Parts: sequence; C-alpha cells; structure tokens
Amino acid sequence: MAAKRKICFTGPMRVTIAEDILRKAGCELVLGKPQDDFRTFRYERKELVNLIGECPIVYPSGRDVITGEILDSCPDLQAVVKSSIGIETVDVDAATDLGILCCNSPTPENYMGVAEATMGLMVALFKRLKFNEVFLRNGGWKELENRGTLMLGKTVGIIGVGRIGQNVAKRLDSWGMKILGYDPYVKQETVATLGVKMVSLEELLQQSDLVTVHVVLTRETRGMLGMREFKMMKPTAFIVNTSRGPAIKEADLVQALNENTIAGAALDVFDEEPMPMENPLRRVDPHRLILTPHNIGANPGSSEAGQRMAAQSMLAILRGKVPDTVVNPLAIPRWKERFWS
Ligand code: NAD
Repeated sequence: MAAKRKICFTGPMRVTIAEDILRKAGCELVLGKPQDDFRTFRYERKELVNLIGECPIVYPSGRDVITGEILDSCPDLQAVVKSSIGIETVDVDAATDLGILCCNSPTPENYMGVAEATMGLMVALFKRLKFNEVFLRNGGWKELENRGTLMLGKTVGIIGVGRIGQNVAKRLDSWGMKILGYDPYVKQETVATLGVKMVSLEELLQQSDLVTVHVVLTRETRGMLGMREFKMMKPTAFIVNTSRGPAIKEADLVQALNENTIAGAALDVFDEEPMPMENPLRRVDPHRLILTPHNIGANPGSSEAGQRMAAQSMLAILRGKVPDTVVNPLAIPRWKERFWS
C-alpha cells in the first residue's frame, strides 16, 4: 500500500532546504503555525494530533515533544524524522511498540562541529582563557598564578565514546594526551587505535584532569553525573558537557563549582532550554564556568546537511524503504506489517 506524500513540519521556523527537496519530490507539506513566542510556545496534545492528521511522517521542531499518547493518536503515522542527532524529545519506546520508525540525522557537519567545539572548550578551560582575557581588559597583565595547564600528558576522560566521543579522542591523541573512555556499549577493540583505554566510570572520574560528556540521553544516562561523581573527581579537574543537559544534575554542578569540589566547567546544553534567567548557573563565578547557548558546535553546513539527510530519510520511507538513519530498528517488522503489507 503506497503512503500519502504528505509531511507535517511542526515548527514555526521554516526549514527551507528540506521543504524544497520534498516539494520538488511531489510531497505536500503541512506547516505548523508561525509563533511570535516560538521559544516558549507549546502545542496542546490535541492541536499537535490535528496538525499531524493523516500525514505518514512528522518532522518535529526541536521544541515539540512527541509523546507516546500523540503517536498512539495518529493512526497513519509511519515515522518521526529529526534533522538533529539527539532524538530524546520523541518517545522512541512507544514508537517501537507501534511500529513507527524514528530517524535522526547524524551528519559529519554536525558531529565534527561538536567535536571541534569540545576541543575549543577544553583548551579554554585548561588555559584559563576567560579569566586572563577579563584580567587584561581590567588593566591586569601576566601573573604567575594565572598561568594555565600544559595539556600534553594530561588525562581526559570521555563518557560516551560514540561518533563525537571518538572524534574528540582522535584530536586528543594527536595532542599527546592520555585518554580514558567509559561506555558500556563500546568495546576496547573498537577504540584502541584512537588511543582510548576503556575503564569503569569510577576510574575515569578519579584519574581524569578533564571529563567530557558525549552520551546519548536515555533513562540510563539522565542524571548520571551528580555530587557523588563530582566528589570522585580531582579538585583541579574540569568537566565539559556538549551532549544533553539532563545527563548532569545541574543543581549539583552549581554546588560543586561554588564549593570548589571541581575546578571548572563548560556547558553548551542545559536542563531547560532556552536557559531561564533565574537559572543559578548564571550566578556561578564566570571565570570558572563557560556557558554557550547550545550552538557551540553549530555551523551553517550542519543545519543544511541535517535537513538534507532528514529529507532523504523521509523520501525513502515514502517509498517503503528503511533508511540507514533509523534509531529503533526493532520497529521495522511491525512497520512493514502495519503499513506496507
Ligand atoms: P552516538 O550515539 O554516536 O554516541 C553516544 C554514545 O553514548 C554511544 O556510544 C552509546 O553507547 C553511549 N552511551 C549510551 N549509554 C551510555 C551510558 N550509560 N554510559 C556511557 N555511555 C553511554 O551519539 P553522538 O553523535 O556521538 O552524539 C552524542 C551526544 O551529543 C548526543 O546526546 C547528542 O544529542 C549530542 N549532540 C549535541 C549537539 C550540540 O549541539 N551540543 C550536537 C549534536 C549532538
């Protein structure tokens, strides 16, 4: 049975590259309403279900959460396709049960961009870049106690050794740094050539001069780093998170920084985005905490490439083909049975 060539874009912002590709391929697009307050706007469940209607594919914006209830209320829905890597705003387990495919768009422009940005944040922390820049602007000059740390020979712990973690490892290896990895789903053999030694989480936390977080956000990784883990780290160590905010217990990190349990941090991702004005992270000593608005790895190419990959995934699904970008392959048999038999 052929699917209707109708795709729902829930976002208020136009994703013109994906739209062009799909229109040229003869698809009809159902577009979410533009919203002035698009950052805070939330659809009611019913509104989103009505918007998706009889579309076989939904392309949710980063803002819109696709719950199991919504998936269950859309009988024609075959797939949820995102142009990002993270897909935690979709209830993937519910989709799998229903035979609905979930696809992400892991483009090199995206994951290499984050790996590069992570290197930048590490350098800024080790070299005390923020502190020294402000010090100079305020009339200061070089002082012995304001020197940075030699990175050569220092140990970096990578939590989550997937695409981004491995590309960070490659770069660290060429800088002569020691690299520890923790990832229960990655074998030592896979990362041996990158110079990574896989260890337990405890070992990684205790031995690293900097810990960088690159996990996918799941039930298991949500809140995996809190005060207990910060206390295992060296008081001189730093933490970088460019993965997803909820992997770290934010309130615990604020406390750990304020009480000098660890030396500093750099965060690109937060529990609540956009970060509310009242978030206590804003009041932590700015010399010890670098904050960027979930864009440090972004580049014009990453957004374009993500849209292209997402559009190609959607066109494959409309032809009854399973794209490589499916993150829930267990859904495939039921998807075939429900929609293509
Ligand atoms: P990936 O799927 O290739 O790697 C994630 C790794 O996390 C996998 O190797 C997986 O085995 C590991 N993992 C899962 N559970 C774990 C656990 N309990 N403990 C340790 N490791 C665990 O994903 P990726 O492309 O490398 O992306 C990594 C993260 O970066 C994702 O959360 C993604 O959403 C995020 N990301 C952020 C930005 C940004 O703009 N800041 C951009 C792209 C991706």
